[in-house]
Amino acid sequence: MSNLLEGKTALILGVANKWSLAYAIAQAYRREGAKLILTYQGERLKLTVEELGHELGAEKIFQCDVSKDAELDHLTSELKSEGALHSVVHAIAFANREDLDRPFLETSRAGYLLAQEVSSFSLVSVARATAPVMTEGGSLTTLTYLGSQRVLTNYNVMGVAKAALEAAVRYLASELGPKSIRVNAISAGPVKTASARAIKDFSLILEHVTKRAPLRRNTDPAEVGDTAVFLASDLGRGVTGNIIYVDSGFQIMGM
Ligand code: NAP
Repeated sequence: MSNLLEGKTALILGVANKWSLAYAIAQAYRREGAKLILTYQGERLKLTVEELGHELGAEKIFQCDVSKDAELDHLTSELKSEGALHSVVHAIAFANREDLDRPFLETSRAGYLLAQEVSSFSLVSVARATAPVMTEGGSLTTLTYLGSQRVLTNYNVMGVAKAALEAAVRYLASELGPKSIRVNAISAGPVKTASARAIKDFSLILEHVTKRAPLRRNTDPAEVGDTAVFLASDLGRGVTGNIIYVDSGFQIMGM
């Protein structure tokens, strides 16, 4: 490819390890010449993300637990000293394993709210924290999954959080459009990551996709990275408020 993100600064939230979709996106952004800024949730991941950040040539790495307003405020002030920000990747989600394991009807109040807060509301708070530094316009991309639109066994409380996330994409796109900030989601096919392991029988989902998806294979994280490049680059300049499926076509299938 050809330096599609040269001269652009990108903030990527959600790198936990080499299997993270955020890591694949960071690799693709790096390849295209973006200046990278990463975040990690807390001390537990500090060292790992610092090592990965070093390998990716990231310029800065900040702590940011998206459920803490003070850390989001701190992120905004740190970003102000980095100049204009052009791209934000929100690759964050969380639900309690027990809420994913039990029937949706039995979802706990606290678990429902937690999934909504970390997996959906955080897009709003991240947008609020970063829009003031996107002074030249730019792109905000989040990650979602088909379980927002269809009932997928064991996705439960996370499916509802992703539905709210996708609605938030549309409202944010509408409000931030006049500032030339585009907001989109990539709906990725299933990929074995740390978060995905929390979903019961995840390997059966992977197997099913290879049999049913038009491309007869699972999603390669690099494909998600390349779509994220398109959205962050000038090639994506007319695209906002969309959910783009990168899932080997699985989402079109019925029987
Ligand atoms: P992952 O590597 O486990 O990434 C999830 C990230 O969210 C981790 O870095 C995690 O940090 C972070 N996070 C959780 N709570 C946070 C908080 N309060 N503050 C800041 N960061 C927090 O898994 P992934 O699959 O790449 O997930 C990335 C995104 O892709 C998620 O939105 C997920 O729903 C979406 N997605 C995944 C798939 C899939 O099949 N894997 C498919 C479609 C969409 P810690 O590790 O420190 O908790």
